[in-house]
Amino acid sequence: MTIINLKPTKMKRILTSAVAILACTVIFAQGRTDFPMKPEMTEIWDPEITVVTPGTTPLDAPSDAIILFDGINLSAEWTNNSGTEPGWKVADGCATVVRGTGAIKTKRLFNDFQLHIEWRSPSEVIGESQGRGNSGIFLQGIYELQVLDSYNNRTYRNGQAGSFYKQYPPLVNVCKAPGVWQVYDVIYTAPRFRADGTFFTPPMVTVLQNGVLVQNHVALRGPTPYIGIPEYFVKPHGAGPIELQDHGNPVSYRNIWIREL
Ligand code: MG
Repeated sequence: MTIINLKPTKMKRILTSAVAILACTVIFAQGRTDFPMKPEMTEIWDPEITVVTPGTTPLDAPSDAIILFDGINLSAEWTNNSGTEPGWKVADGCATVVRGTGAIKTKRLFNDFQLHIEWRSPSEVIGESQGRGNSGIFLQGIYELQVLDSYNNRTYRNGQAGSFYKQYPPLVNVCKAPGVWQVYDVIYTAPRFRADGTFFTPPMVTVLQNGVLVQNHVALRGPTPYIGIPEYFVKPHGAGPIELQDHGNPVSYRNIWIREL
């Protein structure tokens, strides 16, 4: 049997993934959790995402786009969660996470949009798995499109770059090397809710990473929590910001623009 030749770590990951898939299947079928959840219970490691080499260059904003960050002035369109000036470092045409200063979010709120955002994981590789170049782009401030250095960096497949955190793994791994600029182009349709607060249509998202499709019109199940199963739209919401995560790693962003749809 092939499985006998697997290394203990891989064997462990496969078993963990099998348990996670089984747990998710049971929990989604039941629609609720009535026992304590642990982070690893929603981590799916195998099979590993196929690696693809990208071949694109960044895209300039079209004439009808709102420029959210031009590489110089961050505070014009962005604030922190306290409503004051973002604490991130702005230099060399980009904004970089300063550990501990918290997330930043747009002052404007959005519903349906096309978003272009460029990001770069640190060239100095420190840490591994989720601890390496971790940030994130929260659509409407709720749904995390993961930003991670997933170049030769194994982690659970539903938590790597291009994933909707713990909901949808990317179709392929098209990450560039640490220190190299990468691009997300996101087409997002906000959820619609009925008057009684139940959802009518879920959020629908398509994502290209470095010009390659990584999320194809997926329906989000709800928020993207670290622990536990996403609740299925128990909280109706209106327009929301684009929010960028401070996960403690000096990830940089530049050339951020959006077109409202
Ligand atoms: Mg993240």
